[in-house]
Amino acid sequence: MLIGVAIMPHGNPVLEPEDDETRRLTEVLRKIGEEFKEADSYVLISPHNVRMSDHLGIVMAEHLISWLGFDGVELPGEWETDRELAEGIYEATKDRFPVVDLHFASLRGEYSRWPLSWGELIPLQFLEKKPLVLLTPARSLSRETLIEFGEALGEVMEKSKKRIALIVSADHGHAHDENGPYGYRKESEEYDRLIMRLINENRLEELPKISEELVNKALVDSYWQMLIMLGAMGVGNFELKESAYACPTYFGMAGALWVRG
Ligand SMILES: [Zn+2]
Repeated sequence: MLIGVAIMPHGNPVLEPEDDETRRLTEVLRKIGEEFKEADSYVLISPHNVRMSDHLGIVMAEHLISWLGFDGVELPGEWETDRELAEGIYEATKDRFPVVDLHFASLRGEYSRWPLSWGELIPLQFLEKKPLVLLTPARSLSRETLIEFGEALGEVMEKSKKRIALIVSADHGHAHDENGPYGYRKESEEYDRLIMRLINENRLEELPKISEELVNKALVDSYWQMLIMLGAMGVGNFELKESAYACPTYFGMAGALWVRG
C-alpha cells in the first residue's frame, strides 16, 4: 500500500544549510526520512535522470550507482532497484501510457547498472537505504496523461503487499536572483508562492489549473512530477504532516510530507 507521499528538493543548500529557513527545510526532510523508515520500498520520481520529452521512464536496471553530483558535490553510494515493483509498474502501464523500460549493459545481475545524479542523490541522503523504483517524468505529455499515469501508478502501489512511499524530487522557480544563472523573473516568486499555498491549504487538485505560461516563465523543475503525484494520491486520503520552503540561492526548494489519513 501507499503509506505516504513527499516532495523533496534536490539543491545542494539542504546538505549544509546556512540560514534559518533552509535549516527548517532540512528538518522537514529529516522528518520525511523518519516517517518513511517504515516503508519497504520507495518510488522516486526524478527530473535529472533520463530526460525524454514525451515518454516516461521506468528504470529496471538493478544496481543504482552515484555518478553525477552538482557543482562539485559528490555523494557516493549504491542503491538497489525493487525490480519486482518496477516490473509491476511497467506491466500495469505499458499498454495505456508512453512508458519505456530502461536497462543498461545487462538485463539482470552484476552488470545491470545505472547512474544516479544529484536529482536522486540529494533526496536519498535523507532517506534510510531501501530498495527503490526510479521513474522519470516527461514535460511534453499532456497534463491529463501525467495525472492518469499517476492514478495507474497509485493503484499498483496500493495493491502491493509492500509498504511504499512515493517521493517526488523537485525544485521550483529558478529565476529568483538577478545574479543567478537565469536572472530574476517575478513568475518564479509567483509560482513558488502558489505551490506552497496549494500544499498548505490542501488544494492540490488545483495544480492542473496553473497556466502553461506561468509554469514556463517561472522556469520550474517540479510541475510534471507533481501532476503524477496528484494522480497517485487519488488512491486514498492523505494528510499534510510537514511542509517548508526556502530559497537561499536562485531556485526555490520545498519539502512536504503527507501521510495516510
Ligand atoms: Zn532540478
